[in-house]
Order: sequence, then C-alpha cells, then structure tokens
Amino acid sequence: MAAAWVRLCALVLIGVSSGAALAKDKTPSAIVVGGGLAGLTAAYELQNKGWQVTLLEAKSGMGGRSGLATSEWIGNAKAQPVLNQYLDRFKLETLPAPEFVRTPGYLIDGEYFSATDLTTKQPATAEALKRYEKTLDDLARSIDDPLNPQANSTLFALDQMNVSTWLDKLQLPTTARQLINQQIRTRYDEPSRLSLLYFAQQNRVYRGVSDRDLRAARLPGGSPVLAQAFVKQLKTIKTSSPVTAIVQDKDGVSVKVGSTDYKADYLVMAIPLRALAKIQITPGLDNQHVAALKGTNYGWRDQLMLKFKQPVWESRARMSGEIFSNAGLGMLWIEPALKGGANVVINLSGDNARLLQAFGDKQMVDQVLIRLHAFYPQARGAFTGYEVKRYSIDAGTGGAYLAYGPGQISKYWRLWERPVQRITFAGEHTDALYPGTLEGALRSGQRAASQVQDLLAGKSFDPAKAATVAAAATAGAAVAKKDSGGGFFSRLFGGSDKPDVKAAPVAKAEEVAPAPAPAPAAAPVAPAPAEIAKEEPAKPAATKAAPAKHTPAHKPAAKQAKKAVEPKKATVKSEPVKKPVDNTQAKAN
Ligand SMILES: Cc1cc2nc3c(=O)[nH]c(=O)nc-3n(C[C@H](O)[C@H](O)[C@H](O)COP(=O)(O)OP(=O)(O)OC[C@H]3O[C@@H](n4cnc5c(N)ncnc54)[C@H](O)[C@@H]3O)c2cc1C
Repeated sequence: MAAAWVRLCALVLIGVSSGAALAKDKTPSAIVVGGGLAGLTAAYELQNKGWQVTLLEAKSGMGGRSGLATSEWIGNAKAQPVLNQYLDRFKLETLPAPEFVRTPGYLIDGEYFSATDLTTKQPATAEALKRYEKTLDDLARSIDDPLNPQANSTLFALDQMNVSTWLDKLQLPTTARQLINQQIRTRYDEPSRLSLLYFAQQNRVYRGVSDRDLRAARLPGGSPVLAQAFVKQLKTIKTSSPVTAIVQDKDGVSVKVGSTDYKADYLVMAIPLRALAKIQITPGLDNQHVAALKGTNYGWRDQLMLKFKQPVWESRARMSGEIFSNAGLGMLWIEPALKGGANVVINLSGDNARLLQAFGDKQMVDQVLIRLHAFYPQARGAFTGYEVKRYSIDAGTGGAYLAYGPGQISKYWRLWERPVQRITFAGEHTDALYPGTLEGALRSGQRAASQVQDLLAGKSFDPAKAATVAAAATAGAAVAKKDSGGGFFSRLFGGSDKPDVKAAPVAKAEEVAPAPAPAPAAAPVAPAPAEIAKEEPAKPAATKAAPAKHTPAHKPAAKQAKKAVEPKKATVKSEPVKKPVDNTQAKAN
C-alpha cells in the first residue's frame, strides 16, 4: 500500500513537471534504447528535428532482428508504404521480384504444386483451401476498423478463442488443414496459441493486399542494409551497451549501462517485451504493463542457413516464393552465397521449432542434412558449414515477433502506444496494424519519436479508453448464447456450426488468457523430429495454449527428446526439400 502511494506520488510529480520544465533555449535530448529498425527510426527522426540523441544497443552490431537471408523480399508501397519511403530516401536499390515468387505454391508429400496444379491434381484440397479463405475473409470483413478490432461484444468474444478451435469447426480435409497450419505457424505462431480476433484483425489489415504486392521486390543485402543506412545518419551510437536500469523523475531520465549513467529529457524504449522485462524501471510499471511484459505471446521462429560449395539441387527454376508444405519442418529458400557457393535458409516455426530447442545447433543441422541428403546425395560432400539464429532463446528478443494469444487483445490492446511519463515505446510489438514486420518497426519508431516531441510540447496522453473487460465480456457471453441459429457465428464457421466459446466463456476473460510461451518450450518434447517432418493429421486441437510454466525447457526434457529422436534418424523420409524451393512469405524474409 505504502509502496503504491509512493509510486503514485512520483508519477504525479513527473507528469506535472514534464515538458514545461525544459528551458526554451535548451536543445532537447533523448535516449533511444535498442538499435533495431524501430530504435533507429526513432533516433533518426528525433535527430532530424534537432534533438540531441544517444542510441544505446546491447549487442556489438546494429540492426536487431534481421534474418539470416542476404537478400529479402519486400512489399510494394501498397503493402509496406513506410518501408518504401525510407528505401527511397536512402536511395537503396531494389530489384523487381520475378513472377514466380509472387504467387504461393504448395509442397505436398515432397511434390511441388502451383495453385493451378492444385486445382486440377488435388481438387479436394484446392476446394477446401478456397472454403477456408472465404470463411476467413468473411471473418476479416466483420471488423470495420482494424485499429479497434474488439469494437463490439461479438468481436470481443473472438479474442477468447484460439485459431485452432476455429479451424476444427471448418472440418477441413487432412492435407488442406496441414497446409493451412503451416502457413499460420510460419506467419504468426501455432494456431492453438493464437487469438482468433488477432488472426482476423491481421487478415483485415491485409485485405485487398495481394501476394503480388507482398513480394514485389528484392532488397539485396536484406534489412541490414536499411539498418546501416540509418546508422550512417546518426551522430551518437553506443554499441555493447546493455541497459539494466532506468529512473525517471521530474528532471528527466537516467539510464544505467554497467557503471555508466546516461541522462536525457526523454526516452524511447525500442526493445522487445521479454528484454524490457529484465530492465529495472523506477517508478515501477503498473500491473497491466507488468502482466503484458510477462504474458504477451511471441511467435516462435528460428532460422538455419546451410552452406554448400555449389548448388546440389538440379533445378534453379523456382528460386524463391511462399511455399506451404504439409511437412512440419517448415519453409526454406535458396539464395546465392555472397562469397560463391549456395545457401539454403530453412525456417522452423511454431511448436516444431519449440520442440527443436531441445537440440544443439549441430544436431538440428544434422537432422536437416539427413533429409536433404535423401533427395540430393551430393549434399553431404558439398556441405561447408552452417549458421543458426534462435530468436526465441535470445535474451535480447525472447521470440520471433508479437502474436497475441487468446484473451490478450482484450487485455493489452495498444497498451504500448501510450507513453509512461517520459518514456515512449517503439518496436514491432507496439504497432497495431503491422506487428511482426519491418513496416511495423519503422512505423512505431516514427510514432514514438513524434510522441516524445508532443511530450516536450506539454501534451498529455490519456489512458486508452479500453472498454472494461468485465462489461464487454458479459455482453460477449450474451451474444454468443443468443447466436444459436444462423447468425454471425454460423457465418463465421462457414455456415456449419456454432462457435465453441463455451470452453473459454468470455465472462472469464481474465482467466482465459494463458501466459503463453515466453522463452521456455511450451511444446511437448515427446515426438521426435522424424515426426516433425510429417505433420499430425487434422484433429481437434487443444483449446488453450499450454502455459509455458508447465513445460520449462529443462535439461532432462532435452535429453529425453534427443533419446527419442536418435534411433529414428534413418527412417525419416519425406521432407519439404525434394525440390529445394526457394521460399519466402509475407513476413518471412
Ligand atoms: C526469422 C524472422 C524473419 C523475418 N522476416 C521478415 C520479413 O521478411 N519481412 C518483414 O517485414 N519482417 C520480417 N521479420 C520481422 C522484422 O524482422 C521485425 O519486425 C523487426 O526487425 C523488429 O525490429 P525492432 O526494432 O522492433 O526490434 P529488434 O530488431 O529486435 O531491435 C531491438 C534491439 O534492442 C536491443 N536490446 C535488447 N535489450 C536491450 C537492452 N537491455 N539494452 C540495449 N539494447 C537492447 C536488441 O539487441 C536489438 O538490437 C522477421 C523476423 C524474424 C525473427
């Protein structure tokens, strides 16, 4: 009680004295924490407005979560307007994407199908995919304003459901369900861990944006090139400077890096939530922020790059694109290596990737090589090395990118867009429209910079007028109950059924949101990689994401998993690498 009172007094003091306390002729100063694209954008925009900016980055290099790929597919100005503006401003050249990467393909039991092939050769699967897309589009259309996805109680109810439950209701044939699962886990996270409202909202945002818009060009060098362009513009950058503590008071902010204290008028915090959770902030954040730091779900996505002396695959016809596979090991694409040779970049996502955290890098690479070798016997001989990026166990990231779990929009929607006294927040996770993308990171940096200026000008930011959870929940429950006939929910499930909201009644919104998977694996460790390659047939999925705390990634589990796996190595057969198709996706590089 006493502590809360002290905190309240401190907050009031800071609030009262912000902005106005700065002398008119003094150059305003800001510290930006985090040298990813969000922090770089914020620092660049503030510096351009005459601020004195210091950027602090924990690692020795700048750029944050850039993928392993040395070139990156990017969207056009319709899909990623802010990204394209910066590319133009820094005169970074892009190359038009070849036609074949602009439409999706399918890899079914190792065989590649274009969308047209699928219609003629696998009509039941093609038909089911269409039905899924139509139902998803209906769902997306039900959101008028993607900035306000829980505008009414019906939509609010969707936040209490997970995507897997919704897919179950569609009763899709096995192959179609596997392809869809793979698409969702690669773009976001495992369907069982995703809020249905978040999934619908994201599809609303990208409604009218085609695959062709999303993969319109190639950025040679990938996003690190853009990061470097920002770096060149900035005057004060301190790398290898992990921030451990922040104090804000009526005079400004003080930021601790080792034994050094940096001081400034304002601060932009541009680091992922798991990293932020480790920083001591005084006065402390309120309970809602603390809960969000710990509980907000991040998708899981790791990358491996296998390097070869020369390409070991025969076909270079289809070098990249978005390929949805029914084999769980994930997506891959091929690219020429910078110093000769060829690379295969493989993305592991969702629970398959969680599972593989039990493996060391080399073991993981071996598993993939075994599969490659089955199709390309020269693979082992030409193999020269590998790189692995595990975003979810990297302390500076703690996950691939934001992917709201069930109940989390209701609790945390746009929370980080509100400054906390002298601190504004940036990062892909703070962007309401394009989280998990370069676009979202850049937009958030712009927003945070402009908020800092607003704070200096004396503007106050009212707490968001979030509908109270309890009121909306009660109303949501009533709607769900009423919709027993051919109403909204029936359309939502393709006319086939009612929603299964009873498992997560909205009235229990506060309990429903799991604390999904921070760093430790929430996935079971029993299945072996041999099983990972073959996705489970469609079956009713768990309606709740397993709270991470139930399955900490402790060593015995890892050992068990390895043990279970090893004897099966030789029996692995189908993998998405029959034709190493170069591969990318909407968000995936
Ligand atoms: C595998 C993968 C593929 C992707 N592919 C694409 C794609 O094709 N297209 C697309 O648009 N998006 C893609 N994304 C998403 C995109 O990369 C991210 O949204 C974006 O890079 C996030 O930028 P950020 O600045 O928000 O965070 P980050 O890049 O994570 O930057 C945060 C920085 O803060 C630093 N930091 C952390 N803690 C501290 C501390 N205590 N003190 C100081 N510094 C600290 C970190 O080291 C890091 O540099 C992909 C992401 C992943 C993981």
